[in-house]
Amino acid sequence: MNDTTAAYDCGHAVHLLWEYLDGRLPDDARGRVARHLEECVDCDGHFKFERSFLDAIRTLRRDDAAFASLRGRVLGALRGES
Ligand SMILES: [Zn+2]
Repeated sequence: MNDTTAAYDCGHAVHLLWEYLDGRLPDDARGRVARHLEECVDCDGHFKFERSFLDAIRTLRRDDAAFASLRGRVLGALRGES
């Protein structure tokens, strides 16, 4: 295993989790997050919760800007941004 394929640590994986779930990471980063999730029980639980949440949002997804804005604010709050 070399530096370009090594799993991320917990902090890095969690930081990228939303982008990962949203499919917005480049292939190498996505692979490294996925590898971490396979290896880390703590983050795997985190991942499953957030994926369930995103699945629920997708069920409700609308194309209008107001909904996109709401979704952005919810995700921002969950990321701890203010
Ligand atoms: Zn972890």
